[in-house]
Amino acid sequence: MLVVMKSQATPEQIKAVCEAIEQMGFRAHPLPGAQRTAIGITGNQGEVDRGNLEELSGVAEVIRVTKAYKLASRDVKEEDTVIRFPGTDATVGGRNLAIVAGPCSIESREQAFAIAEQVAASGAQFFRGGAYKPRTSPYAFQGLGLEALRIMAEIRDQFGLRIVTEAIDNETLDLVAEWADVIQIGARNMQNFSLLKHAGRIRKPVLLKRGLSATLDEFLMSAEYIMSEGNYEVILCERGVRTFADHTRNTLDLSIVPAVQRLSHLPILVDPSHGTGKRDKVLPMARAAIAVGADGVMVEVHNQPEKALSDGPQSIYPDQFARMMDEIEQIAPVVQRTLPRGIHVESAKTGVHDSIVK
Ligand code: PEP
Ligand code: MN
Repeated sequence: MLVVMKSQATPEQIKAVCEAIEQMGFRAHPLPGAQRTAIGITGNQGEVDRGNLEELSGVAEVIRVTKAYKLASRDVKEEDTVIRFPGTDATVGGRNLAIVAGPCSIESREQAFAIAEQVAASGAQFFRGGAYKPRTSPYAFQGLGLEALRIMAEIRDQFGLRIVTEAIDNETLDLVAEWADVIQIGARNMQNFSLLKHAGRIRKPVLLKRGLSATLDEFLMSAEYIMSEGNYEVILCERGVRTFADHTRNTLDLSIVPAVQRLSHLPILVDPSHGTGKRDKVLPMARAAIAVGADGVMVEVHNQPEKALSDGPQSIYPDQFARMMDEIEQIAPVVQRTLPRGIHVESAKTGVHDSIVK
């Protein structure tokens, strides 16, 4: 069920409706929109008695949401969700494209800084790097853990880049939430429901990657798990699915972008690195991702990919990343987008905006 408030409804009226919903034993999710606030109701098994709610002041109407995913659905929130990063001009969703770049894994301070410096110089706003790695083999490099989180926090201080890194389980989730700006939930964990609920109780954006064989419905239901716990800042990420094709590591399903955008207000990024597994395919698929309407891309960049401890073959060189940015910048206006170059960070001490790069 969904309570649609009148456009002139006051914050007090919205609060009173939320309280009435909670008193009925359900959960209220106020979702402010450009025109009006909608309040999603979850926790109900059958139909909610709409009688009382319709009578409350400021309520325009009470409607039934038929889709299985409610909070993620455009039925509940018509306009696109834009995720903001306090103290910076970075956004995910909306007109500006979001570019996330960095190595698969943080291998050392030196490696991470060298890559961060170059992706920042090309104008990325987000830096990615694995601290905890979900590896197919238990003998493969598992990540530097807390040390990597510390290195990335230093990178944020020095370059302004907002940090995206993966939590692989409930133990690492709180640590990642403490140190990073965006919590990544990887493809293998897309249906780890306890992890999704845990991420839903945190107030930080979550980047949710599509599972290796997840359907669109399953993908949105996983987003719903996070949102149902009160965290509405979910960024979807297409990263390729398993098919019979063996010329690439995965098959990058770009058609999911318009399919998601039709059903959901959540932003969606595309990861052409895991999506192809091959360096020479990353740039063409990144161009295609922007052209198809994605809200940005996440790519693996390494200064010495031949020596990388994970995903070297799909990591592009910093100069290829620079070219990718130039090409994306040219495609952007065709799809009514803008590529911001660099991030502006408000200095905590002075409140003055410092331009970190460019
Ligand atoms: C990653 O981003 O490094 C990663 C492990 O991705 P995925 O979960 O999509 O395999
Ligand atoms: Mn990787």
